[in-house]
Amino acid sequence: MTRCDEIRPRLAAWLDGELGDVDRQTVDNHLAGCVDCTAVVHGYRAIKPAVVLDTSANGLWDAVAARIDEADTITALLTELRQMRDEMRGLRAEVADLRSELARRSPAYTTRTSPFSFPDAPERPLSQYRLV
Ligand SMILES: [Zn+2]
Repeated sequence: MTRCDEIRPRLAAWLDGELGDVDRQTVDNHLAGCVDCTAVVHGYRAIKPAVVLDTSANGLWDAVAARIDEADTITALLTELRQMRDEMRGLRAEVADLRSELARRSPAYTTRTSPFSFPDAPERPLSQYRLV
């Protein structure tokens, strides 16, 4: 009979049906008479579902990675939106500064009407118009 230490390295391949006919027959014959190697085979069989599960866990990781990419995109968009908001605030402050500077240099400016007023609309001083 073939020795256990010659059989053990082939057991995983035997279990997966990857052995040639001669090798498979050798392992078959050994297992028929060896309780220890048969126990090892049972151990492999018990582990195999976990290996399969691990493969599907890779798919899970892909899904998680996709969600992380999504979150990165959202984070990048939020960062861009915050920058735009800050720029808007800066521009609004600049417009306010320019208006008050204009009013200081030319007091008539504050009483001048909007260039956008319509003939039927009541005349309003430009200072009443505000940027939102
Ligand atoms: Zn054995």
